[in-house]
Amino acid sequence: MNYKYETDPFDREHLWHPYTSATNPLPTYKVKKAEGCIITLDDGTELIEGMSSWWCAVHGYNHPVLNKAIEEQIHKMSHVMFGGLTHEPAIELGKLLLDIVPPSMQKIFYADSGSVAVEVALKMAVQYQFAKGCPQKNNFVTIRSGYHGDTWNAMSVCDPVTGMHSLFGTALPVRYFAPSPQCRYGEEWNSEDILPLKKIVEEHHGELAGLILEPVVQGAGGMRFYNPQYLREAAQLCKEYGLLLIFDEIATGFGRTGKLFAWEHAGVEPDIMCIGKALTGGYMTFSAVLTTDEVASCISDNYPNAFMHGPTFMGNPLACAVAKASVQLLLSSGWKQKVDNIEKQLKEELQPAWKLPQVADVRVLGAIGVIETREPVDMAWMQKRFVEEGVWVRPFGKLVYIMPPFIMSAEQLHKLTSALIKIVSEMKMEK
Ligand SMILES: *Cc1c(COP(=O)(O)O)cnc(C)c1O
Repeated sequence: MNYKYETDPFDREHLWHPYTSATNPLPTYKVKKAEGCIITLDDGTELIEGMSSWWCAVHGYNHPVLNKAIEEQIHKMSHVMFGGLTHEPAIELGKLLLDIVPPSMQKIFYADSGSVAVEVALKMAVQYQFAKGCPQKNNFVTIRSGYHGDTWNAMSVCDPVTGMHSLFGTALPVRYFAPSPQCRYGEEWNSEDILPLKKIVEEHHGELAGLILEPVVQGAGGMRFYNPQYLREAAQLCKEYGLLLIFDEIATGFGRTGKLFAWEHAGVEPDIMCIGKALTGGYMTFSAVLTTDEVASCISDNYPNAFMHGPTFMGNPLACAVAKASVQLLLSSGWKQKVDNIEKQLKEELQPAWKLPQVADVRVLGAIGVIETREPVDMAWMQKRFVEEGVWVRPFGKLVYIMPPFIMSAEQLHKLTSALIKIVSEMKMEK
């Protein structure tokens, strides 16, 4: 097919898109509507959605149940401040969340986006250590290949290379980085994998408030799946040396990895947990930070007797209402069977990619399928080829990956995986 698509001239001239040039941007495709697993462009081209809009749209688009939840709420109130006021959607969502997160999570802080949730979690850890009488414990350790968002402190714990820390120089807080875990998910544990983290914690615990990481699946920092034993040993180290363990479940939460939350792979409960992305089924930006009674009490029982954070749109009723509907829908929709089916199909249908000379690795966990190429992909070319094939896939670096909505049919998924293999096989090799 000879598919011609022109970027909207105003968009090209004035709208800045993520991670691209403002003067010579990658092309953008204008979407007219989205329904179920189909994104429709303004010329009528239909694309099968492989990205769930960056992990969010687990129920697909334009879902009647979620539409209804948000419509009903909008006639009551779109927003009221959360300082001194509260409301049914916030309370109902909270009850629902406490039933599905680790049992030790008892206090919920609602925030606006994933990055803000990470900022809140880091502040919480520092304020906890301050309240405990250890104000010098105010730095963080993390693992390489992580991604925690784009705001200042979130960025400081992202992988220093893919997060381009060099660009921001001394303005960025300097964290401790252990190498990313080498033992893969599903492979045998090697006890040496934890040693670099152990060394850092042993040497620097006096200045460390906590360890932050994405449990089991590292998302945008490298799409890596590591052995859950790493988390058990890391949790032990945190306990031993007085560090709070922070799990960033913003990408992994709500079924994506085959468990409702990824901590379940390890059975290790964190002290603080961030959720976001699929929390509202992709309807609105929203996130939550959850913590234990111990952390919350320590912060609250000591000077200044309050946690020092309060976003304007905290606990937004529209977001809470749609989040509640989305979580209920997830729990009643047989998500586990759907994710298991997607996993099985991804494993079968991505297997042939191993034979391609362009491919370095193929991996699947839950409803996430990754083809890692030997050389970085040409984004503009590959994006266009995917659109020509009728699928929406957005690769980055050497990663061509999909995380489809859970409602995707086997037939749609087959079209996606076929397109993935076809287009990767068309990549030109340098050597
Ligand atoms: C996307 C993401 C974030 C940041 O969320 P935003 O809503 O984009 O600010 C943080 N952590 C992880 C693991 C993510 O995948």
